[in-house]
Amino acid sequence: MTIDVPLKTPVAEGDPSASDGGTAGTGSRGGRGTKGDNDRHRRTKGSPKAGEETAGSVRGPIPRGFATRLLSWYRAHRRDLPWRRTRDPYRIWVSEVMLQQTTVRAVIPYYESWLERFPDLRSLARAPLRDVLRAWQGLGYYQRARNLHRAAGAMTREHAGLIPDDAAALRKLPGFGPYTTAAVLSLAYGRPLPLIDANVRRVLMRLLSIEGGSSPSLDGKFADLLGKVIPASAPGDFNQAIMELGALVCRSANPQCLLCPVREFCRAAADGTQETIPRPRRLEVAKIEAAVAVIVRDGRFLIRRRPDKGLLAGLWEFPGGKREDGESLVETLRREVREEVGAGIEGVRFLTTVGHAYTRFQVTLHVYSCRFRRAPALPPKDFRWVTLRSIRRYPLPSGSVRIVDFLAAKKSV
Ligand code: SF4
Repeated sequence: MTIDVPLKTPVAEGDPSASDGGTAGTGSRGGRGTKGDNDRHRRTKGSPKAGEETAGSVRGPIPRGFATRLLSWYRAHRRDLPWRRTRDPYRIWVSEVMLQQTTVRAVIPYYESWLERFPDLRSLARAPLRDVLRAWQGLGYYQRARNLHRAAGAMTREHAGLIPDDAAALRKLPGFGPYTTAAVLSLAYGRPLPLIDANVRRVLMRLLSIEGGSSPSLDGKFADLLGKVIPASAPGDFNQAIMELGALVCRSANPQCLLCPVREFCRAAADGTQETIPRPRRLEVAKIEAAVAVIVRDGRFLIRRRPDKGLLAGLWEFPGGKREDGESLVETLRREVREEVGAGIEGVRFLTTVGHAYTRFQVTLHVYSCRFRRAPALPPKDFRWVTLRSIRRYPLPSGSVRIVDFLAAKKSV
């Protein structure tokens, strides 16, 4: 089913499929639906005062006392999250990769079942890619899972099954961009490297009263400022603390300034601008319609493996694709099956409609059952006839999972 839309957010927000992108120690860890945007930063308020340093358009420094106050708040109020109970670099690495572009609540069950299935680096390296993708199913950005698998293999071969405590060695591994590298080094190995995600960006913009939209273009300056206050004795806790503050208190909507431990240092709170910094983003949501073919033969269904590169690479799905202008849905269905499978269909019957919302796209899948007029020869590498039971062993995109759920509830097609 060829629907080339991003799963959650565009590449510019730090698509982990490319790497984890950005400047040193910056990334796109998920929060409570708070992610950076692409608007350019405009200006900071006023001119720097004597003795203040400027970091481009970012005015500093981060006030003295900020780190101490933040850390004591964090130690008293932090959430008890599974990856905070460990210093195991493997577990921290897995959690950090899962948390990119995904919320804490969504990640917890995946994290726990992942560790049952792949308890250490070697078990991940040994597993077939299909099992890894299946364990990742539903988290989106499947390139992250592919990179975990490839990096685990490389560390098993080249680093005796250990995650190196070394930035240069990590950066050579698949998926280890600046953010993931700094996350593993600071959280697991106690290296004083700051982390910047959307939550941190928002806290700092408010703390320093930087107007405009949240943008990764600020991250280099923020990293410089944070580098001067990150405590060498607890860099991991400091990084977690500022992200936690952004997630729980300095929230995107309705920041809880009256409860905030660093309120006395905060320029936005003093100015009453905390609700307008950063400038809210306007998201345009495109609507996409697609036709999907449940092709039936002897009680089995045809699924197809997506190409190795691109969106949802390597996942399995029902044939089908995006409706083009002027086409009826059945015309789309016939064209897509012809393009993907090289055969005509007959006995087309509407089954159901399945919706799936992404950050910038709303996809509606119109699902039809049908059969081949003349069954083509299909290479088993890319096509499989599966039962409703066996299809669950394949990594599937969320839309296909919903179609399988529908078929399972219906019991016959
Ligand atoms: S005082 Fe308000 S705006 Fe400032 S850091 Fe705290 S929650 Fe955010």
